Amino acid sequence: MEIKKERRLKNIPTKSSEKYRNFPMVPRVVFGKGSFDQLGDILMPKRKHSEAPVVYLVDDVFEGAELAQRIPTIFCDQLIFVSADEEPSTFQVDALVTMIKDNFQELPSGIVGIGGGTLLDLSKAVAILLTNEGSAAAYQGWDMVHKKAIYHVGIPTISGTGAEVSRTTVLLGPDKKLGINSDFTTFDQVILDPELTKGVSKEQWFYTGMDCFIHCIESLEGTFLNAFSQSYGEKALELCKEVFLSDIPEGESRDKLMMASWHGGMSIAYSQVGVAHALSYGLGFLLGVKHGIGNCLVFQHLQEFYPDGVRLFNKMIEKHEITLPTGICQHLTDCEFDKMVAIALGMEPLWENALGQNWRAVITPEKLTSIYKKI
Ligand code: NAD
Ligand code: ZN
Repeated sequence: MEIKKERRLKNIPTKSSEKYRNFPMVPRVVFGKGSFDQLGDILMPKRKHSEAPVVYLVDDVFEGAELAQRIPTIFCDQLIFVSADEEPSTFQVDALVTMIKDNFQELPSGIVGIGGGTLLDLSKAVAILLTNEGSAAAYQGWDMVHKKAIYHVGIPTISGTGAEVSRTTVLLGPDKKLGINSDFTTFDQVILDPELTKGVSKEQWFYTGMDCFIHCIESLEGTFLNAFSQSYGEKALELCKEVFLSDIPEGESRDKLMMASWHGGMSIAYSQVGVAHALSYGLGFLLGVKHGIGNCLVFQHLQEFYPDGVRLFNKMIEKHEITLPTGICQHLTDCEFDKMVAIALGMEPLWENALGQNWRAVITPEKLTSIYKKI
């Protein structure tokens, strides 16, 4: 794929003095089947003392499951099971931070998030808010966090979002759905154990996996593309094709999707997502539609913007016999459509990446409403 010449060096610097982004990467990562069992050893040198616990935020799908028995709790460590049924919110982060501060006199030694994007994002945000005053809502945006978060570890149990590698945590706030994008958001340690993804349902595997596929398409087709994002995006796309379009053994497929997620996340770190994500944010904010399925619902109608991507997507849907829900927007009022359109249009960097600086000439509220009406 050729990088679009006029914009090849474009990316959004995080500080006004920067010409190019200087962004953090996860400094330590373990990969491999069964690597979860190294968690206790990894945490030991990070423990400040016996009164400073490790707090584990764990998807409640694992409550009573074998994985929960393997979590290495010692001293006064706390295990908190959290539902991933809804998108994580600033309200939820504030409540968890208050609970942890009330329960312990000391700040925890670390936060460990175990689950999908929902739990990973919650854990990143809780780690930040334990050292930064006030509500999580005050930090939604770019580089509003000024104090280092406490040590935090991410352990994905489903693959696709790239949340394990990104410098953002996407939260539903009182008036917007937006990430806390900061240098302190990125995990200090990630454990990639593909065996942990074993219990995921076929539909959820597909929706979250498609989040990764869509990251690749939006990054590779975007005007912000550069050699850095391209190298990760192409690898992730190749892995997605192997996982979703060929017949490789299940174990291999789990390993490859986990690495696709990682590379997809790295690709958008230095470029941006695009049309599907902008529209999906509108669905998520108004209707609480979850990220993965929301992206799929939108992407199927984006032939105009991503013809090759939509063709591949349709092949994948067919191969895995996925039936996307319909009629999601059929009872919405004009006012509600306007709200979704306003949220989507507010994602300016995404539109600029997708269509270039003159995106407003192509994207009108009427056009976006007509896409939402098909969903
Ligand atoms: P999720 O965390 O919402 O989980 C989806 C479902 O899968 C839940 O019901 C969960 O309980 C279940 N699940 C997870 N692991 C399982 C397992 N091993 N066995 C059985 N069930 C399992 O899913 P997701 O798609 O990974 O995350 C979506 C979230 O990620 C959204 O909130 C989105 O905003 C966020 N996100 C963040 C970033 C980022 O860079 N921070 C990027 C993309 C998406
Ligand atoms: Zn995404």
